[in-house]
Amino acid sequence: MTPSDDSTSHPEGAVVFGRSTGHEQVVFCNDRASGLRAIVAIYSTALGPALGGTRFFPYPSEAAALDDVLDLSRAMAYKNALAGLDHGGGKAVIIGDPAADKSDDLLRAYGRFLHGLGGRYITACDVGTYVEDMDVIAEETAFVTGRSEASGGAGDSSVLTAFGVYQGLRAAAGYRWNADGLAGRRIGIAGVGKVGHHLVTHCVEEGATVVVTDIATDAVDRVRRLHPVVEVAASTADLLDRDLDVYAPCALGGALDDAVAATLRAAIVCGAANNQLVHDDVDNALQARGILYCPDYLVNAGGVIQVADELHGFSFQRAKAKAARIHDVMLDVLRTADAEGVTPSEAADRLAERRMAAKGDRRIWVAAR
Ligand code: NAD
Repeated sequence: MTPSDDSTSHPEGAVVFGRSTGHEQVVFCNDRASGLRAIVAIYSTALGPALGGTRFFPYPSEAAALDDVLDLSRAMAYKNALAGLDHGGGKAVIIGDPAADKSDDLLRAYGRFLHGLGGRYITACDVGTYVEDMDVIAEETAFVTGRSEASGGAGDSSVLTAFGVYQGLRAAAGYRWNADGLAGRRIGIAGVGKVGHHLVTHCVEEGATVVVTDIATDAVDRVRRLHPVVEVAASTADLLDRDLDVYAPCALGGALDDAVAATLRAAIVCGAANNQLVHDDVDNALQARGILYCPDYLVNAGGVIQVADELHGFSFQRAKAKAARIHDVMLDVLRTADAEGVTPSEAADRLAERRMAAKGDRRIWVAAR
């Protein structure tokens, strides 16, 4: 989903600094003693308590932090809805440099603020926060997930994230080529970090030819040790120059810009990276060239599926079964896109909105009394 100003679609939402944003609730948290400055944004609790990570980032201003948290929380509502989770969407930002400003005292103060929200927002890791930080927050509140395995949490979510991307890719390949599986396909994976290297394994095991690239040589070396058959491209540009059936962006956001959309030779784009589309029109440009784009927020939902499962006492098998459903949701998105004459991203947004509306849009979730 590409976050946008949706003041027309939800005019009744929170008014923040004179803007109608569509959000249910936006909370500013300040604690002078620890230096905590945080904003929690709850877009919707129509499907249940809002779930989404805490980003710890040195925003240049409170207004910049607010813009980010409003966009991110809205995106989480769509992601959770499409993933079939009984969670609304929320996100939080802590303003500051995590390397310099993070302390246990600050995280505990933040945990107390979250506790005051009564479970309407449940936090997890995001940029600048780690499982160890969630463990500290958990000293003050139960409304936190994504904790370390040592503390009873589920730990690293990249295994299930990669599994979900693989499910989305299998669905897209079946739809596009009317073929079962990825055998014989040529798949280019840009970024073979925590998620990307697991995706390589799935693709190799299915008999695909895999080409990887990464700016970190140790990441490439690890893949080559695991799978000597994998080819290595010198850069993402080199990767994109090759004859690919599938392009899987698994590094940072912004992988799909106008130039890539105009020149890409792959028939499918399916990867883990967040916010792949630089702007909405890229999606249309890909579709115009017959390239099937798998919405990033759908196929990379394995991580949020894992942290949601952790709230019920983590079961890897149960979470994996839920992540496997990404295959069928991807098919649903592609069929809806064709039936309604829209791009897969638009179809995914529509399906998420329908699920939120069916449960009673704007319902305010509170813990049982
Ligand atoms: P990671 O940091 O472990 O891996 C990213 C890899 O990309 C690194 O090896 C890095 O060296 C490489 N990279 C960075 N810039 C590059 C470039 N210009 N060209 C080629 N390679 C480059 O991160 P990750 O956890 O594997 O996440 C990958 C992406 O998936 C991110 O966008 C992340 O937000 C998204 N994502 C991850 C999860 C998860 O569970 N980890 C869940 C959802 C979405």
